[in-house]
Amino acid sequence: MGLMEQKQHFSVNLLDWYMVNRRDLPWRRHNNPYFTWVSEIMLQQTRVDTVIPYFNRFIGNFPTVKALAEAPEEEVLKNWEGLGYYSRARNLQAAARQVMELHGGEIPQDKQAVFALKGVGPYTAGAILSIAFNQPQPAVDGNVMRVLSRYFLIDEDIMKGSTRVLMEELAGELIPEGRARDFNQALMELGALVCTPKAPHCLTCPVMEQCSGRIAGRELTLPVKTKAKPPRPEQRLVAIVEGRGAHRGRVLVRQRPATGLLARMWELPHVLAAPAAAGKAAGPLADEPAMALLAGSLWAEGFAARPEGLATHAEHVFSHIVWGLQVYKCTEQDQIGELPLIAAEARAAYDAQAAAKDNSSSAPAALEEPAANLTEQLSPEALPLANSQDDPSLRTESPQVDHANTQLMLTGKGDGLTYCWIGPEDMDKMAFPNIFLKLISSYFAGSYDQLSE
Ligand code: SF4
Repeated sequence: MGLMEQKQHFSVNLLDWYMVNRRDLPWRRHNNPYFTWVSEIMLQQTRVDTVIPYFNRFIGNFPTVKALAEAPEEEVLKNWEGLGYYSRARNLQAAARQVMELHGGEIPQDKQAVFALKGVGPYTAGAILSIAFNQPQPAVDGNVMRVLSRYFLIDEDIMKGSTRVLMEELAGELIPEGRARDFNQALMELGALVCTPKAPHCLTCPVMEQCSGRIAGRELTLPVKTKAKPPRPEQRLVAIVEGRGAHRGRVLVRQRPATGLLARMWELPHVLAAPAAAGKAAGPLADEPAMALLAGSLWAEGFAARPEGLATHAEHVFSHIVWGLQVYKCTEQDQIGELPLIAAEARAAYDAQAAAKDNSSSAPAALEEPAANLTEQLSPEALPLANSQDDPSLRTESPQVDHANTQLMLTGKGDGLTYCWIGPEDMDKMAFPNIFLKLISSYFAGSYDQLSE
C-alpha cells in the first residue's frame, strides 16, 4: 500500500462515513458564516454538549455580526457566563466590530483578512474558510493532529510548531476537490466520536483498514505529546461580606480591572493567602491568620468587615493557575472603630503579607504565553488585592453609596476598582466567572446560613 493509496482511502471513506453519521448540530443547520465563526470560537477547549445551549442563547440574543458589534460588553459576557475563557467573548466582539468597520458587516473570504480578526488563529481561520465558504483550507487542532498521527503513524511531538506545519500540509492534501466543508467537519467528527483520546473505537472506524497506527498497535501511544506544565497552585482567601443597614440582604462584589485575567468581570473580594513560591504547592492557611488577613485586605480597600468563619472551600482551575479558595462569611461593620482589635491584628497581618510579597524573590514573573491564543492572560498584576497599596485614606473612609446612572448600588473604590452591594435580583445584570457565580448563588440560596450570628 503506497502513501497515495492510503491518503485516498482516508479521504473517500471518511467522507462517506460522515455523510451518514454526521451529528445534527445547531450551527450546521444553516450555512451562515457568522454561526460557523461563533460556534468555532465556543468549541475551543469546550465540549459540543456544553456549547449547544450557549450557542442557541448567544445567537438568539446576537443574531448578526451587527447585533454583536453593537451590544454592551457586559451583555456579551453575561451570555458567555459559565463557558469560561472569557477573552474569547471579548475578542469575538472586538472582531465583530472589525468586520463592521472594515468589511461592511460581511465576514471576509480572504485568508489574510480572516486571520487579521481578533482572536482568530490558524485553526479558526481554516475552519471558517472551509466550513462557511468551502475553501480548501486545513483546520488543524489537537483532535485532528491525534487522528493524523495515528492514521499515518507520525511520531513527531504535536506540541511542536514544526509538527503543526507538517500536519497542516498533510490535512490540506487530503481535502477532496470541492468538498472542503464536509471533509474538514468529517475529520473533526472522527476525532470527537471515534478516534477519541483514551479509547479509540478502531473496530467501528471507517478508515481502520489502512490505519498505520492501529496496524502497528500504536493507537494508544499516539500522538506523541510533551506534557504541559501543571498549573501553578495559589491559595486565596475570599470574603462574602454580608451588608448591614442600607446594605442589608446584599453582598459586596467588585469589578476586576479592564485588562488581564477575567477583565471587567465581577467577583467577591479576595486576597492571596501568601506569596506563591515557584514550584511549591500552596496549602490552606489556618482560619485565625486567614481571617485577620482577609479583614486587613478589606480594610485596605476601604471596607470594615468582620470575618465570622469559614463558609466553604472551593477550587478553580485556569489554564496556567489553580486557585484554592477559602471562603469566609463576613459581616459589614458600620465604622472601622467597631472592630479595633480585629483591625489592629488584621492590619499587622496584611502589612506582613505585603512586605513578604515585596521581598519575595520567588514571586512569579510574567507567566508564559499560553499555548492557545485565546487562553486567559494570567498576570500577577491582574490580581488586584495582591497588589493593593496601603493607602491611608482608604482606612478611614466610610463606604460611599452612589446610585447615579445605574440601578446597581455602587460604592467606595480602592485602587481604581469599582465595588457594588448586590442582591439576588442583580445577578442577571452582571457577568461573573463561574466560581463566583456559584459562591454568590449559594449564599443567596442560604447555603452558608449556619454561620449566621
Ligand atoms: S483505526 Fe483507530 S487509531 Fe486509526 S484512525 Fe481509526 S480510531 Fe483512530
